[in-house]
Amino acid sequence: MRGFHAGSLGAVSDDEAAPRPRVRTLGRVFAYVSHYPLLACATLGCAISSTLLVVVFPKVTQILIDDVIRGGRHELLLPMTLVALAAFFFHDLLNALRIIVNNTFEQKVIYDLRSDLYAHIQQLPLSWFDNRATGDIMTRVLEDVNSMERVLIDGIEQGTVSVLQIVIVSGMLFYYNATLAWCSLAPVPLLVAGALAYTLTAHRRYRLQRQASSAMNSLLHDNLAGIRQIKTYVREEREHSRFNAVSAQLRRATLVVMRAWAAYSPSMNFFSSVGLVVVLGLGGKKVLDGQMQIGELVAFLALVRFLYDPIGRLHQLNQLFQSGRAAGERVFEIMDTPAEPGEPGRDISIKLHGDVRFENVRFAYAAELPVLHNINLHAAPGATIALVGPTGAGKSTLVHLLTRFYEFDDGQIYLDSVPLREYSRADLRANIGMVTQESFLFNGTIRDNLRLGNPDASDEQMFDALRAANALELVERLPDRLEARVGERGVKLSVGEKQRVSIARALLKDPPILILDEATASVDTATERLIQEALDRLMRGRTSFVIAHRLSTVRNADHILVLQRGRIVERGTHDELMQADGLYARLCHQSFMGSWA
Ligand code: ADP
Repeated sequence: MRGFHAGSLGAVSDDEAAPRPRVRTLGRVFAYVSHYPLLACATLGCAISSTLLVVVFPKVTQILIDDVIRGGRHELLLPMTLVALAAFFFHDLLNALRIIVNNTFEQKVIYDLRSDLYAHIQQLPLSWFDNRATGDIMTRVLEDVNSMERVLIDGIEQGTVSVLQIVIVSGMLFYYNATLAWCSLAPVPLLVAGALAYTLTAHRRYRLQRQASSAMNSLLHDNLAGIRQIKTYVREEREHSRFNAVSAQLRRATLVVMRAWAAYSPSMNFFSSVGLVVVLGLGGKKVLDGQMQIGELVAFLALVRFLYDPIGRLHQLNQLFQSGRAAGERVFEIMDTPAEPGEPGRDISIKLHGDVRFENVRFAYAAELPVLHNINLHAAPGATIALVGPTGAGKSTLVHLLTRFYEFDDGQIYLDSVPLREYSRADLRANIGMVTQESFLFNGTIRDNLRLGNPDASDEQMFDALRAANALELVERLPDRLEARVGERGVKLSVGEKQRVSIARALLKDPPILILDEATASVDTATERLIQEALDRLMRGRTSFVIAHRLSTVRNADHILVLQRGRIVERGTHDELMQADGLYARLCHQSFMGSWA
């Protein structure tokens, strides 16, 4: 049984929404399959030809028994045996070809689907990721795509072949003996009723199973990412039992699917066997009564087997179909999520100056929870704006509006006097550099990570940037220098080292606008000085928004904005604000040791 994993927790609520129409899901998968008409025809051609060959053996058996053995025609023995051998040989040869072509076809379609899905995921707004578990997204890309695509490829191939085989074999059965043929078809209504009952109830079972699989993957992903915290807080046992709980949920959901299959598949088999037994009894009587040759009966029995085989395959297909439908809905649910809206794409191949103006900007993550109210600010090109205020005041949110990670609801943001939304996101982001508290490095080499800033940077430029970021010494200490691997999320470097590499990365990008989120984690004074120097060099000549935690940064800022509960409550220079003796002065007194956090 393939496609037996996958599900979702992060998306449970979405999946519980009204199921999408089956035809639509199928039609959309079909669009992918139809890109490869040649492969589709080849796989079908092989399947049909090998099916046609199955009728040879029963006919040969009949001739062997009735003409060769009972009729005493010795000369036909060898040719007939060779015909049967050849039929089997070509049947299996065509089958081998079919498997190769079918798998190529399948992998190509899976590749296309995965690629489109990934491309779309990258276009989705950050708010979508905020509400998703990574493990759930991974389950959909890895498992659901495979499962849904099999529906059509196997469906087209096996379905066509099975139906064809049923038609051909039924025709032959009627040609041999109409009464017996009717007997052999007697179980068909039962088989159809069984298939219908299974189909109508299977969808929910598969959906639950896929959700359970996603839930397990989500927990696993979360826990692997947080393995340090689990160890630090000695949560191993708790987390193990949490994992076991979601794993047991998957076991239960899978067993429900399996039990339904265990009841369905053998009962369908049994109904088929009843048909066979009736044919055997009635056929035996006909031979005894001299109405039928024994060879005819043997050939008939062999043919009946070829009738029930494809019926069994259709049942399996139905099972595959149900699991694929549940998977398809989950994949298309992502595809149907609107991407970040497209923009006219103003051409800004020339660099921006970095003049930023917020006018009455308002924003809420969720409609009922406004986070920023009436924000007004102006940053002249090259100015440093320090954002200070208690945690949760909205400082990060404010700068995320500038990068359009989130879209403001009201008001306007101008960049070089042009409304922000008139720039394409790509152009806009190309002009903004970000150095965050937790500098994220990708699991690659130092060089790979620096290239993110500028894909065409030469080694010399990289070393210059590293030098300016006070990171040259640390890179030169590594045995592989630029080729040194930093590990997942950069775990092989210290916080201060990561920070400096990410400053070098921002320097290579050389954007006119900078967003800095100063680290709150305390590093030793020497490292702090190195980072501060690097940041000073980075900020030179750029419009910088600094979420400031250090007094020294705030002091040097051209303009300080004090945020509280989503409003700018004070603004000015350090001296002005100290004189005003308001929130800023209080915050300053509280954190005279140098940290604001
Ligand atoms: P600060 O940077 O000043 O500490 P933030 O801008 O991070 O504050 O957060 C402001 C408010 O918005 C907080 O109440 C926070 O809980 C909420 N918030 C932040 N990020 C999100 C998000 N992605 N989704 C929903 N709410 C958020």
